[in-house]
Amino acid sequence: MRNLVVAGVFAIVALVMLGSSGYLYYQYYGQPRCEACGMIITPEMAENYYIIDTDTNQRLYSCCSGCMLRLAAAHPDMHLEAMDSWYGTAAPKTIIEIRNGQLQSVSVDTARIMLGSKLTNSCTSNRFAINATSAQLLQENGYNPSNPLSPFKSTLPANTPLVNVSAALTTLKARGISYVPPSMAFLIGAAVAGIAVLAIGVMAWKKLSVPPVPKT
Ligand SMILES: [Zn+2]
Repeated sequence: MRNLVVAGVFAIVALVMLGSSGYLYYQYYGQPRCEACGMIITPEMAENYYIIDTDTNQRLYSCCSGCMLRLAAAHPDMHLEAMDSWYGTAAPKTIIEIRNGQLQSVSVDTARIMLGSKLTNSCTSNRFAINATSAQLLQENGYNPSNPLSPFKSTLPANTPLVNVSAALTTLKARGISYVPPSMAFLIGAAVAGIAVLAIGVMAWKKLSVPPVPKT
């Protein structure tokens, strides 16, 4: 009976370790997250901000127009395609090229980053506006109910700052990356430790279960 309890405790500890490392792996590596702030990327966000690191050809993800530029702290060479937050696919995307961490070009002069996060400290207050009309509509309504790709269906704070891409890049790059996922080595370590606990448990249980050898 005591042997069963000991084996059970080992099994539970091992399962908890294996289960939590698997869960954490899925949470942090199984789905894309905003590299700058850690927010889980919805399909809408992925459509709104298409970002490529041109050094590695790696697709990058950002949750909002602010985090998009914060990525320049880790990726000095990027090709960005930002969708207008009001018009969605009805307006052309704005193409932004960043080289050596500096703004090289913006395809639309009137494009503005709406940095509501400056007032609310939340990425959900940021938008991307291709021109003054879009910015005004977003300021008044928060989002366009007819745009199925609206990334955040929320209102904006009054007097949301409108910043051109060049000025926004300077301040947001300085803010940089704040998200630190749990390291892969830690997750693998936890899984290996779980398997080790299970193996020790099985061995201990076998030893305890062997009937005592009668003395001759
Ligand atoms: Zn973000």
